[in-house]
Amino acid sequence: MDDLKISCPKCEWVPDGYPYWQCDCGYVWNTFDTAAKCPSCKKQHVYTQCPVGCHQMSPHIDWYKDLDEWLEEIIAQINEIVEVEK
Ligand SMILES: [Zn+2]
Ligand SMILES: [Zn+2]
Repeated sequence: MDDLKISCPKCEWVPDGYPYWQCDCGYVWNTFDTAAKCPSCKKQHVYTQCPVGCHQMSPHIDWYKDLDEWLEEIIAQINEIVEVEK
């Protein structure tokens, strides 16, 4: 997982692990921990705002630089975890 490169598609800002993102439900977390799925209300966010660099919205998927089936696999795993925790 460590070689996965994540950065803002517009300004190249790299997420530093802090919880900058707030869901519509009010929950605040690091969206890259869960591939943009809110851990509280389970909403899957399609767009992710750049919170520090350019403050623009980009598709969450565009933040991943070495995107392949890896991400789909992770999302499937996350969905399983979410199901268990319900
Ligand atoms: Zn939420
Ligand atoms: Zn940016």
